[in-house]
Amino acid sequence: MDFAYSDRTRDLAVRLESFMTDHVLPAEKIYDEQIEANDNPHEQPQIMRDLQKTARDLGLWNLFMTHDGLGAGLTNLEYAPLAEIVGRSIIGNEAINCSAPDTGNMEILAMYGTEAQKAQWLKPLLDCSIRSAFAMTEPAVASSDATNITSTIRRDGDHYVLNGRKWYTSGILDPDCKLIIFMGKSDPDGPTYRQQSMILVPTDTPGIEVIRDLPMFGFKDRLGHGEVQFTDVRVPVENMLGEEGDGFAIAQGRLGPGRMHYAMRAVGMAERALDMMCRRAQERVAFGGPLASRGVVREWIARSRIEIDQIRLLVLYSSWLMDTQGNAAARSEVAAIKVSAMEVAHKVVDRAVQTYGAAGVSNDTVLARLHAITRALQIADGPNEVHLRTIARLEVKKHS
Ligand SMILES: Cc1cc2nc3c(=O)[nH]c(=O)nc-3n(C[C@H](O)[C@H](O)[C@H](O)COP(=O)(O)OP(=O)(O)OC[C@H]3O[C@@H](n4cnc5c(N)ncnc54)[C@H](O)[C@@H]3O)c2cc1C
Repeated sequence: MDFAYSDRTRDLAVRLESFMTDHVLPAEKIYDEQIEANDNPHEQPQIMRDLQKTARDLGLWNLFMTHDGLGAGLTNLEYAPLAEIVGRSIIGNEAINCSAPDTGNMEILAMYGTEAQKAQWLKPLLDCSIRSAFAMTEPAVASSDATNITSTIRRDGDHYVLNGRKWYTSGILDPDCKLIIFMGKSDPDGPTYRQQSMILVPTDTPGIEVIRDLPMFGFKDRLGHGEVQFTDVRVPVENMLGEEGDGFAIAQGRLGPGRMHYAMRAVGMAERALDMMCRRAQERVAFGGPLASRGVVREWIARSRIEIDQIRLLVLYSSWLMDTQGNAAARSEVAAIKVSAMEVAHKVVDRAVQTYGAAGVSNDTVLARLHAITRALQIADGPNEVHLRTIARLEVKKHS
């Protein structure tokens, strides 16, 4: 194992640091103001378009994409430190076209898409001229177990007909969202893991109705998390992704790298919270001394440093495993880092909130938002308990 940065990571990290300091972090407030001023709060604010143009000009684009000939072609180990830098801002990943759900959708299009599907959907997604959504989870069933999905994909001549109710379909309210990757059962009586398929659905297809925009702990995300009704939605048979019955396997492939990306960015979120905590603790004086002089606050700071460094090492180790032995071999480590990175980031953010007092729960700093994000991401892309179940199963097997 060699965790030294490669030359291209070192070069990109320097450029990314400057981009974050000079452009992204100062744009956060403007981003929120422009969203508020827009008639449609889901519309891309102009400042984000400007940031994306600058990122492209600087060669900081599609860094997540490990597939040959697409994006920067970095390994996971090379991308991890860059994702950490980007994770310090909640708008950083969007600025460099590395945000979910587009990243996962681009990955599966690269892996399973036909040449025609890639030309129609992958190319504009890589350009960020369109956005996309991923519709798997359903309100009526426990969706952490994807075999529970009840939506249907029924063949009718040279079309498929889709029916079902989805929710937390992230990105669907963005007016630039032109593609939904929909998961449903095409063979409800087939073998458990071959019942599901994934199909590409243009958002303007008749029969798609966004019922409501779901919040995240009261926050409304710019991309929007839709509850969506699909009623007799007809799409041509050539929109099937892979073969009928491949849906479950594609979902597993999609979520692996995505989980790792969240973990990589969580390290950056935690670093930002620790940085804020240290600054505030030195400035704020109570009972005759700065908060930073109190033992309890010093312990929060020290523990945060230890825990962040631990998750960074696990991120690098699991990235290295994915690169050298494949996603399947790294299953347990990827599950471990998805759980631990988000738990640590949440804990560090929570300590920072406490250090800030009332200001920490206001919207005057990014902390309240980070608190919500790091909590929600212990459920999204698989709840912690499901990842713990995976780790335990693999661990027990070693000893049977
Ligand atoms: C902000 C956000 C964005 C999201 N974006 C998307 C998206 O774009 N597309 C999409 O399809 N979905 C999306 N989701 C949905 C997310 O993937 C699901 O919420 C998640 O998979 C869990 O499914 P569920 O909510 O149905 O929980 P359930 O399956 O009902 O589980 C509820 C709880 O049960 C517990 N649990 C489950 N299994 C076990 C077990 N084996 N052992 C012990 N405890 C267990 C866990 O604590 C879990 O939180 C998003 C969710 C959030 C919060």
